[in-house]
Amino acid sequence: MMGKSKLERYLQMRREFADKRLINLNPIQRGGVLTEAAKEAIVEFGDGYSTCDWCPPKTSRLDQIERPPIAQFMKDLATFLGMDVARVVTRCREAIFIVFRTLGRPGDYVVVDGLAHYSTYVAAELAGLKVKEVPHGGYPEFKLNLDAYADKMDEVKRETGKLPAAVLLTHVDPTYGNLNDAAAVGKTCREHGVPFLLNAAYTAGVMPVNGEKLGADAIVSSGHKSWAASAPTGILAMKREIADRVLGRSKIVGDWSKRSFPQKECALLGCTVMGAPLLTLMASFPSVVERVGHWGEEVKKARYLVEQLERIEGTRQLGTRPKQHTLIHLESNGLYKVSQTHKRRGFFLYEELKKRNVVGIQPGLTKHFELSTYGLTPEQVTHVASAFHEIAEKYGLSVG
Ligand SMILES: *Cc1c(COP(=O)(O)O)cnc(C)c1O
Repeated sequence: MMGKSKLERYLQMRREFADKRLINLNPIQRGGVLTEAAKEAIVEFGDGYSTCDWCPPKTSRLDQIERPPIAQFMKDLATFLGMDVARVVTRCREAIFIVFRTLGRPGDYVVVDGLAHYSTYVAAELAGLKVKEVPHGGYPEFKLNLDAYADKMDEVKRETGKLPAAVLLTHVDPTYGNLNDAAAVGKTCREHGVPFLLNAAYTAGVMPVNGEKLGADAIVSSGHKSWAASAPTGILAMKREIADRVLGRSKIVGDWSKRSFPQKECALLGCTVMGAPLLTLMASFPSVVERVGHWGEEVKKARYLVEQLERIEGTRQLGTRPKQHTLIHLESNGLYKVSQTHKRRGFFLYEELKKRNVVGIQPGLTKHFELSTYGLTPEQVTHVASAFHEIAEKYGLSVG
């Protein structure tokens, strides 16, 4: 059994991490920092099924609860994303799985971008689907060839006699932080009559995303990644026609009891996030609606940091330029060179940054690593740049 003291030690580390003095650059952590309102919600709604005291007896469904105002929230969420219907599920990947599973039949194809998150592939696999990938152009921009979506849909049609069950585009990919032209893919999908699923895990909640304008049939996102919410929370928002297919009601009848559950949305197994994480998402929502309006300033900070980091000998930003997102992929042959002779090898970078109160670069990495400036103050961004410059100079790299 794990003793209490051991957990306490991790809590202590976590507190140090969360402490304002430490700047966490890990891209997966930046958009999930809780608002004060969300922190309060955790305390108030921490007990078990805390959302369920006033569950409407007629349907007994989470999305119809009015106290707390979950039903209204789902409507507002859909509107915010330019969609008709929204549900909160446990994770972005679950939302992808639900769409794949309900739109596809085993053996069908989905067309996905070659920079999709691993969970996209695993979701397809669990749904019994095959993937056809849209390629990217490789080093150094890794730019996706979005024109290939049409070719790939035609290819699936030629090979199998039917169109793919769905198309998925990762709006901003998690490796290079490239922003893709979703509207272009939306148009291609409409022309082909194939449902278009936009994975907005790194975009919705931090930057403006309107599914109507982008021609998306469904949008999925991650509450703990981009909506100032606790894990696990995922967002599934859809146009009406797709929602009718994805959220089909249960039809099963007990063979002996004749019990049936015609109100329950089958793919959601009835209810999903029935406690504190949902309430953090709801509590942060007004701030999220407000913050996407400041996206331009966020991108400026990212560009500034790229400019500063590229002053370091042998260092360049990979992915498309200039940055249109705060997730930065850096290649540093300079820092890598230092690691080759340093007694701490690749760990020197993590350790030197930590001494300067900067964390979140994966320990051991020097040649390729990711970071994000999202939500940092300008002073914090300047501090990060200086920390890197100091470290570079300490180990004899020039800073131009
Ligand atoms: C982080 C991420 C995911 C996974 O999100 P979860 O909510 O943890 O499932 C999926 N897709 C992309 C593009 C991501 O960046």
